[in-house]
Amino acid sequence: MSPKLKILCIEDNPVNWRLVQRLLGQAGYDMHWAEEGLQGYQMAVELKPALVLLDINLPGLSGFEVATKLRQNADLNGIPIIALTAKTMKIDRETALVSGCDGYISKPIDPFQFTTQVEAYLGGQRDKVDQGREGAVLRQFSQQIVEHLEARLKEAQGSNRKLQEAQDALEIRNRNLSRLLALSQSIVAEPDPRSLLTRILGRAQEDLGLKMLHAFRVQADGGYFEGLQWTEDGSEMTAPVRGDHVLPMRLKRVMNEGPILGQHLLQSPYWDPGLALGLWTQPSEALLLPMPHRQHEAELWGFWALSREASRPFLPYEVELIALIGGLAQVSLQNAELIYSLSESSRALASSYEIVESAYMEVHQAQAALSLRERQALLGDLFQKMTKRLQEPVATLQVQSAALDHMEQGSGEWKHSVAQIRHSVGQIGNLVKALTRRVGKQENTRPEWIILDELLSQELELMSIEGHLGDRGLRLEVGAAEAKVFGIYGDFSETVAEMVRHALGGPTPSPSLLVRTAILDGRYQLEMADEGGPIPTEVLTHAFEPFSVLHEESLEDAVLGVRKPGPGLPACVQLMSSYQAAMRIENMGEGTLLELSLQLDTESI
Ligand code: MN
Repeated sequence: MSPKLKILCIEDNPVNWRLVQRLLGQAGYDMHWAEEGLQGYQMAVELKPALVLLDINLPGLSGFEVATKLRQNADLNGIPIIALTAKTMKIDRETALVSGCDGYISKPIDPFQFTTQVEAYLGGQRDKVDQGREGAVLRQFSQQIVEHLEARLKEAQGSNRKLQEAQDALEIRNRNLSRLLALSQSIVAEPDPRSLLTRILGRAQEDLGLKMLHAFRVQADGGYFEGLQWTEDGSEMTAPVRGDHVLPMRLKRVMNEGPILGQHLLQSPYWDPGLALGLWTQPSEALLLPMPHRQHEAELWGFWALSREASRPFLPYEVELIALIGGLAQVSLQNAELIYSLSESSRALASSYEIVESAYMEVHQAQAALSLRERQALLGDLFQKMTKRLQEPVATLQVQSAALDHMEQGSGEWKHSVAQIRHSVGQIGNLVKALTRRVGKQENTRPEWIILDELLSQELELMSIEGHLGDRGLRLEVGAAEAKVFGIYGDFSETVAEMVRHALGGPTPSPSLLVRTAILDGRYQLEMADEGGPIPTEVLTHAFEPFSVLHEESLEDAVLGVRKPGPGLPACVQLMSSYQAAMRIENMGEGTLLELSLQLDTESI
């Protein structure tokens, strides 16, 4: 069985192609289809078909041109090309023949005749142009080709121009974007909002050739929008726009839809109010850019109005640039505020720490220079000075840290910093409180929340500075950071002081003191373990009773240097009685273990 003959059909109409395929396919031919001329030429080169059926009305190259092109390829010589032409005019059939076709079949094709017609050409039939007409037909054909080329050339020029315009726009856009990037990098550290905005607006004005630029921004209370106006002469503040003015009220509803410009703006309900506010003049090309709040979605943060000559409509890349510059301005302003508050706070913090540090230095120097007795007198004076100096920065810090807290900046790092600042402020505040008490100006006898471990650390530190601990090794192990109690500061500081007095009060000085805290079963446990020697059991049982010392004291004991409980312990029980507290004492190791146990409010743990 001989291989099927290949027939290539170049035809843009699928309905025609299916009919051809069905008729010739049934007759046993191997059918191939190309939809347009150049594709058809490629397929002819690859397939080397036995015959080409060529539609004359094709998109792109016409059938005549395809025929000419096929004929120029020597490899395809001898392949019959048969034109399918719907045109009944004789000249078209003749043009087909002079352009390289070997025959033609008229459309619509006759299903009963078609196969026979094709097979006649396969068998060698060739049509001819009438003698003497060939010259005229050729001229006609070349005329057609010239017209076709002309049309194509115009088309190409047109698209080339559009391409050039797009490329120019792209270049300008590129240049603007890199200038914007440079600007944004240069203003990162600019802390002053006014000069920041002036620089950004100046750039926008310059890049876009604006006549006027207004930038409005909502004030903290939302009551009005504050504005900056930029003209060719520079920038100045403009009259504020009320928050309930029709322009911002209307803008709020469409603020997420991007800039409004051109005819759209001219026909919008914003045009007349903007004209009345002097945001643009008539005639001019204007653009209105609403800026939604970045944190509060339903709020309008601000809006910009730009205008220039009516002959220069804003191009798409310019609109994009304006939106970018607007976004940059918004982010930079918020950044600047953040940087400003942060540096204010850190300045305040730094100077406060310096004051605290130098105050401590004075105390230490005094301690080194003076005997204990002189020291006591001088220290009171020093504490007073120190306290006075601390009060002001502490107040500043408290205000600053509260302000930072209200700014609601989202990042975790931010929150962490704020928490740290607050914590430090709290510590300094407590220190001032402790100092105030020391200098005898116990202004605050009202109850307050007291963080017990912090109170303990501060009191021990102050006692150490005052010289009460001597050179004993103090070991402090606090483990109840969450424990707080609503009470009077002095009750607790006095109790701690008396407990220390007991621990260090034996006839043989205890070489060390261990102070330990923990939360156990909802109770705050404070333990002090000393090595100052044991106390006789019968004395120990009365340690917390008033006047127990008087009852138990005997001359013999005094002479022998027997250790007694601290004289202030009964007072401690009194002070702690309103806090559901229990105290306990026992002999342990080389000395005694004194314990204070305090019921914590379940909510306060
Ligand atoms: Mn067609």
